[in-house]
Amino acid sequence: MKSALYIHIPFCKEKCLYCDFYSAQYSESLAGSYISVILKQLQGLNQDFSTIYIGGGTPSILSLNLLDKLLSGLKKFLKSDMEFTIETNPESVDSEKLKLFLDKGVNRISIGVQSFDDKKLKTLGRIHDAREAMEAIELSKKAGFKNISIDMIFGISTEDLKAWQADLANVAGCASQHISCYSLSYEKDTPLFRMREKNRIAPLDNETMAEMYRYTMSYLPAKGFNHYEVSNFAKPGFECAHNLNYWDNNPYIGLGPSAVSYIESGRSENVAGVEEYIDRYEKGVSLIAYRENLSGVRMAKEAAAVKIRTKQGIDYEWFKNKTGFDFEDILEKGVLDELFKDNLLEYRIDKVTRERTGIVLTEKGFLFSDTVSSAFL
Ligand code: SF4
Repeated sequence: MKSALYIHIPFCKEKCLYCDFYSAQYSESLAGSYISVILKQLQGLNQDFSTIYIGGGTPSILSLNLLDKLLSGLKKFLKSDMEFTIETNPESVDSEKLKLFLDKGVNRISIGVQSFDDKKLKTLGRIHDAREAMEAIELSKKAGFKNISIDMIFGISTEDLKAWQADLANVAGCASQHISCYSLSYEKDTPLFRMREKNRIAPLDNETMAEMYRYTMSYLPAKGFNHYEVSNFAKPGFECAHNLNYWDNNPYIGLGPSAVSYIESGRSENVAGVEEYIDRYEKGVSLIAYRENLSGVRMAKEAAAVKIRTKQGIDYEWFKNKTGFDFEDILEKGVLDELFKDNLLEYRIDKVTRERTGIVLTEKGFLFSDTVSSAFL
C-alpha cells in the first residue's frame, strides 16, 4: 500500500498576517537542535514510503548546512519513482540550495508565491515581492527542476476580479507544472482576523469570491492545467502524488511539531511547540499531544469527506474496497437527496453500461465543497 512521509520545518522569518499554522522564529541553533531530533527519528523509521514532503513553516529558511544534513538523512528512503517535494519561499531560496535539493533527490519544488502584486503581498504580510517571486521561479527552472508548483491566494479585501485575472495570467505564464489556488480565510487568532473584527478591513463579498473561483476553474484548464482537486490544478501527469495519498485515505507519518500521522485507523497529532518537541524527545517522553482511534464508520465517513474534493469524486467500488462499506450505507438518511436537490452532486455514469458508478461534485458543488464534506461527516 502507498504511504507518505511528511516532515514539518516549523520556522519562518516573520509571521504572515493570515497564517494560523504553528511556526517559530528561525535561529540557527534552535533549528540545529531540531534537525538533530528529526535525524534521530528518521534513523528509527524503517518503512517504505511512496512520497516524501518537506513542508512548513519555511523549509528553505534552513541554512545550507542544515538542509544538507536533513536531506542526507532521507537518503535511505529514496526510490527512483518517488515524488520528493520541498516547500520554499521566494526570499529564502538561492541557486546553491536549489542545486543541493536536486543533488539529494528532491524532484518537486513548491514555491509560496501567493501573488505577483506587491500591494497584495503587503496586505497578506508576505516578506517577498513580485520580483523575488519571479526570480525564485526562474532560478528553480534554471537549476533543473521539471516539476514546479506555485501557491496562490485570492480574495483579499481590496482585490477585484480583474486583479485576480492578472495574477492568474502571470502564474499561468510561468511555465510551471502545478498551481494551487486558495481562497483567503480569516482564521481566528491571526492579525488579519483582528483587523476584520475592528472593521479595519472588510472581507470580500461571497459573490465576488465565487466569481473569482469560477473564473479560475475555467481559465486554468484552458491553459492546460487540469482541475483535479478543489484547490489544485496540474498539467497532465503532474498531480501532487503526496496529496493524492492523503485524499486516497492512505497511511502517512508526520514528523515535527503539530504534524499529524494516520496509521491503521488511528490518528495522532504531535505537540505544537518546537522547544517542547525537542525537550520531550531528549527526555524520552511521548511527542503525541492527541490521539484518536477511528471506528470503521468514522474512518469511512472521513475518507468520503476528503475524496469527494477530487475531480474523480467517489467511485463506489473504490470506496467499498477501501473502507469495507457501501458508500450510501454510511450516510445519515436524506443527506444525499438534499445534496442532489441543491445541485451540489451528480452521478458518475459508466459509458458502456450506463450504470451509476459513483458521485462527483458539480460546478456548484466545487464552490460549496466544504458543505458537501461536512454533510458526509
Ligand atoms: S511563510 Fe507560510 S507558514 Fe510561515 S507564516 Fe507565512 S504562511 Fe505561515
